[in-house]
Amino acid sequence: MRRLVLLALVVGLGAAAARAGTPPTVVIDPGHDLRANLATEPIGPGSSVRKILDGGGTRGVVTGIPEADLNLAVALRLRRLLRRAGVRVVMTRTTTSGTSMGNIARAEIANRAHAALFLRIHADGSADPSADGTHTLYPALEKGWTDDIYARSRRAARIVQAALVRALGFPDRGLQEHTDFTGFNWSNVPVILVELGFMTNPTEDRLLATDRYRQRAAQGLCRGTLRYLGRSPTACG
Ligand SMILES: [Zn+2]
Repeated sequence: MRRLVLLALVVGLGAAAARAGTPPTVVIDPGHDLRANLATEPIGPGSSVRKILDGGGTRGVVTGIPEADLNLAVALRLRRLLRRAGVRVVMTRTTTSGTSMGNIARAEIANRAHAALFLRIHADGSADPSADGTHTLYPALEKGWTDDIYARSRRAARIVQAALVRALGFPDRGLQEHTDFTGFNWSNVPVILVELGFMTNPTEDRLLATDRYRQRAAQGLCRGTLRYLGRSPTACG
């Protein structure tokens, strides 16, 4: 009798562990930092083409909020939602206090974490104040650099963009492939970069400064991420 109970317990625990599985890791990369970094780095492994580490990002045309602050605020909200949904989260930064680490360093954090998704959060800027809307960038197909992550990144971009547009209600600017993004070309894990909206557009700048819209952005990103991971987006609340 006692042996049967023990057996049932062991079988039960095994099934629970299999159901839970190993939690996937998502690396969240809030773009930029307090200070730009004008040093240069190669745009991909073995490349002679170099780009600056970080031009510093944009800022709110009405609110004056630096992009780095907005990116981090949404990233921290997203971290909370994903953790509650059982996802392991690694951040490339948790404060806006230093010189930007650059894009190879960001990609290496995602590579080391064996991330199921490397999710980069940015907001856009334009000389045209009427430019508005949300878009998502992913790596173009480059043999030896991104061929192993291209299809999965594109799929993640499609799913996360749809969820983000639904959550924020900004115009849908769609997806964009990029050949020359250092942070894409150095990544060995699926990677996307979302542009939440335009901080140079007065309406979107004002909305993205509010708790309500920052939470909406985090919720959209959470839902898209969970859907991409094959999990139920209802866990995002
Ligand atoms: Zn940016």
